[in-house]
Amino acid sequence: MSLVTANNLSKAYAKGELKVEALKDLNFEIEPASFVSFIGPSGSGKTTLLNLIGCLDKPTSGILMVDDTDVSGLNTRTAAAFRGKKIGFIFQDFNLVPVLTVYENVGYPLVLVQNIPSSERKQRILALLDAVGMAEQKDKYPDQISGGQKQRVAVARALVTNPKLVLADEPTANLDHKTAYMVIDIMKKMKNELGTTFIFSTHDQKIVGEAEIIYTLEDGELAGREV
Ligand code: ADP
Ligand code: MG
Repeated sequence: MSLVTANNLSKAYAKGELKVEALKDLNFEIEPASFVSFIGPSGSGKTTLLNLIGCLDKPTSGILMVDDTDVSGLNTRTAAAFRGKKIGFIFQDFNLVPVLTVYENVGYPLVLVQNIPSSERKQRILALLDAVGMAEQKDKYPDQISGGQKQRVAVARALVTNPKLVLADEPTANLDHKTAYMVIDIMKKMKNELGTTFIFSTHDQKIVGEAEIIYTLEDGELAGREV
């Protein structure tokens, strides 16, 4: 059973009089516990696709199933609940909350989750900080750590709700190469340990080689699949 299925998935934006076809008839399936990247130049549709999978936007036509749910049918409220339960996000510019510590940033997504005793919350946050190598920095603020460290914190934050799926839109774009590899390695390690599926976008040919399955987008079309 696949975790994400797209059938003739299309997305068009209205841009004044013009219609921009950002995604055209995509067909693919992503299995649970996989490490997948979408590569393509700027404007090829990567962000649009991740936004659809992340239920932040809706397709114009076609079918998009995420964990057996047809997500194009969700309204704003059910989409938010679905996201909160099933999906973690990692962003290009890290998006940590500057007034919260590293520990508090990782715990932040749990604010919306009930029924987890505080001892378990604490344990989960500390275990993730340990797994991404940031336990010693837990009381620091985002402006006291490096870009690579911020992205490690963001990886831990994306995993704190135990999501099935983590979406990362160009997570290494603001990192140098060595740091980018380290962040990808941590994502891969977490995938192996937790069975979480990671889908990330990049236009960096070197980083993309780290994925198990590589999809290429060109002008909104799926131009290739490499394993
Ligand atoms: P990528 O992330 O690969 O750079 P995007 O998904 O951001 O690509 O964009 C794909 C295409 O859709 C581009 O032509 C872009 O200009 C267009 N596009 C993206 N978002 C919008 C929007 N909100 N309104 C109109 N056009 C958009
Ligand atoms: Mg983009």
